[in-house]
Amino acid sequence: MAQTLHTLAPGIHYLAGGVNVLVLEDGHGGALIVDSGLDADHGKKIVKALREKALEPRAILNTHSHADHFGGNAHLESKFPEIKVFAPPLEEAILRYPILEPIYLFGARPPVILQNKFLMAPASNARLAPEPGLCKIAGVSLELLEVAGHASMMYAVRVGSFLYAADALFGAEILQKHPMSFCMDSRLQKESVQMLGALEGIETVLCGHGSPTSDLAELARRNLEMLETTTRAVKVACVPPASIDTILQRVCQTFGLEMQQPANVLLNRSAVSAHLTELLERGEIEMRVNDNLLEFGVF
Ligand SMILES: [Zn+2]
Repeated sequence: MAQTLHTLAPGIHYLAGGVNVLVLEDGHGGALIVDSGLDADHGKKIVKALREKALEPRAILNTHSHADHFGGNAHLESKFPEIKVFAPPLEEAILRYPILEPIYLFGARPPVILQNKFLMAPASNARLAPEPGLCKIAGVSLELLEVAGHASMMYAVRVGSFLYAADALFGAEILQKHPMSFCMDSRLQKESVQMLGALEGIETVLCGHGSPTSDLAELARRNLEMLETTTRAVKVACVPPASIDTILQRVCQTFGLEMQQPANVLLNRSAVSAHLTELLERGEIEMRVNDNLLEFGVF
């Protein structure tokens, strides 16, 4: 992982990694950090990279509550006790009570193996971020855009002609590697992708995962295509009617996916469930209980 900040525009930098970390300068030696990476190690790398630029972290904005986007918070909060942490509604609750993520994925108290750093970061003293729109956080002027879908709630960040899409968009190389992405609400996710794709005046886009690009419209088009392909694959997998787990198995076969870890199964199971909800709402499939199985299909 790169240890130094890459500059995207004056006062706008990022630390490249499996998860990108955005750094916005306040013009007075302070910085707003947007997402903090996977773990304490990631937090340490952020501190080191900021020091190289003589920047002091003043606040963290977490775009959403997935563990790989706020895992560095606890380290930064311990090093800089004055630092303030902001997150969107609902997501902010998960930052304070991170057990909620493995609980909602598993549906009950999760086995210890699911309480790992990929699903559960250390708790963070988060507060509600400002409402979407133009605002100032820790002296940095920015625009928050509501882009729910990948998570129950998520904010993208716009500063002038720069857009940090968080996980509302995935970089082209990520889409190629992962034919299906995690999703809580596929209908909203598609709306968010379309809204971002239609933004005017964006010259540079950085996603939570992947390299920066200048072609926002093309990136949005590819993300939408991935989501529509998943919806179609889930619909096809509903014939004959089956349980969520069987539908997941069929979808994995379609995409040539081989899941190894329990966490992978649960994450993909959530994504399939999200697309099932969308298909149910569109009236394209139905849900029934049959022989004690919750089934989805055309009956
Ligand atoms: Zn995410």
